[in-house]
Amino acid sequence: MSGRISRIATISVHTSPLDQPGTGDAGGMNVYIVEVAKRLAARGVEVDVFTRATSRALPPVTELAPGVNVRNVVAGPFEELDKGELPRQLCGFTSAVLRAEACHEPGHYDLLHTHYWLSGQAGWAARHRWGVPLVHSMHTMAKVKNAALAAGDRPEPAERVLGEQQVVDCADRLVANTAEEARELVDLYGAAPSRVATVSPGVDLGMFAPGSTGEVRRRLGLPHDAFVLLFVGRIQPLKAPDVLLRAVARMLDDDPALRNRLVVAVVGGPSGTGRRRPEQLQKLAADLGLGGVVRFEPPCPQDELADWYRAADITVVPSHNESFGLVAVESQACGTPVVASSVGGLRTAVRDGDSGVLVRGHDPAAYAAVLRGLHDDPGRRDRLARGAVRHARAFGWDATVDRLLEVYEDATTRFSTTTRAEVTA
Ligand code: UDP
Repeated sequence: MSGRISRIATISVHTSPLDQPGTGDAGGMNVYIVEVAKRLAARGVEVDVFTRATSRALPPVTELAPGVNVRNVVAGPFEELDKGELPRQLCGFTSAVLRAEACHEPGHYDLLHTHYWLSGQAGWAARHRWGVPLVHSMHTMAKVKNAALAAGDRPEPAERVLGEQQVVDCADRLVANTAEEARELVDLYGAAPSRVATVSPGVDLGMFAPGSTGEVRRRLGLPHDAFVLLFVGRIQPLKAPDVLLRAVARMLDDDPALRNRLVVAVVGGPSGTGRRRPEQLQKLAADLGLGGVVRFEPPCPQDELADWYRAADITVVPSHNESFGLVAVESQACGTPVVASSVGGLRTAVRDGDSGVLVRGHDPAAYAAVLRGLHDDPGRRDRLARGAVRHARAFGWDATVDRLLEVYEDATTRFSTTTRAEVTA
C-alpha cells in the first residue's frame, strides 16, 4: 500500500490489456496500462482494470499478475466493434462498472485512472457515484490529431472533441505524457495548468537492452552485412509507414547497388483506417518495386520485438502524430538510433542529433537523404547508438510509477471533503 491509496480502478474501454499490442486498437496505451498496473501491484496497490469483453470465451475476471485483475465487462456484442461504434455501448459499460463496485463495501476503490476519452466518460459517472478522485490520461487528442491528418485519413468526429472536453472539465487531475501535451491540454482544451501533471511513460529497461546484432540477425534470417531499417507499430496512415517505403524506393533509384544489402522490416498489423484495406502497404511495396527488400512480420510479443530492434541499424518512426512514441524509446534502449518525424512526443522521445535524427515534415526525399547519410557514415551511427542507450535510460517504468503515485496522492488531497460531498450529492 502506498500512502492513502490501496486500490485503484483503471478503465480502458476500447482495448484490453490482454490484447497483443501492435495491431487493431492495441498499442502503446495497452503497454502503459499493463506496465504501470504490475508495478503498482508490486508496491501494494491493487489494480482492477475494467475493459469491454470482446469474446464470449473470456471469464468475468482474468488475473494479469498478482494484484492486477482485468474485469471483462459485457457491454454490446462480443465481436470487435469499431471505436466509432463504442460511444453507443458506453451506458451499458458504465452501469456494469458501477455495479461491480456495488458488490463491495463502500469506498472499495480509492481512485479512478481512466485512459482515452471513452474511458474518461465512464470514469466521469463513476467519480460522481463513488465519490473518488478521477485521474485521466488522454493518450491522443482529437484536436491535435485532426490538425495533423495523413492525406485521405478520416478526421476525428465532433462527438469525440466534445467528449474529450467533458472529461477534461470533470477530471481532478490530467496526466500528460510530455510538456508539449500538457501545453495542448491548457491551450486547446482550457485545462487549468494546476490540474495538469506531466508524467513520462517508460520502457522496460530489462527487456529492451543492447545485445548481439550478429546473433539476432542469424536467428531472424537477416544477412549479417545488411543495412536493416525497421518500422514497428500499428499499420495505419497516421503512422506513415508509406513514407518509409517511398524513401527506400528513392534511395534505390539513386543507388541501385544498395538493393543487394538493404532490408526493410515492418513489424505490426493493420489498425484504424488501415483495417479497411489491410493489404494496402504490401501493395504499395510491390508497386514501388520493393519486392525482396521489404519483409512484413506479424505483431509479436515484446521479448521478440527486442530482437528486431537489436537486429536493425535504424528504426524509422515517420508518424504524422505521436503523443509519445514508445517504439522510439524501446529501440534506443536496445542501442538502435531512431529517425523520426519531428512531431508531438517524438520530440521528447528522441534527442535530435544525439540519439537519432528528427525530420521535419513527411517528404520521402528528406527521409531518404537522412537515411542515406547514416548508411554512409557508420561512425555517426555508432555515436548515435551510444547516445540512444544513454537517452533511453531516463525512461524507466519505475520512475513513471513514482510520479503517478505523487499525482494520485495530490488528487486525493485535493479531492476534499467538500468536493466529495458535492459530487455524491
Ligand atoms: N508492440 C508490440 N508488438 C508489436 C508491435 C508493437 O508489443 O508487434 C508494442 C511496442 O512495443 C510499443 C507499443 O506496441 O510498446 C506501441 O506503442 P507506441 O507508443 O509506439 O505507439 P501507439 O500504439 O501508442 O500509437
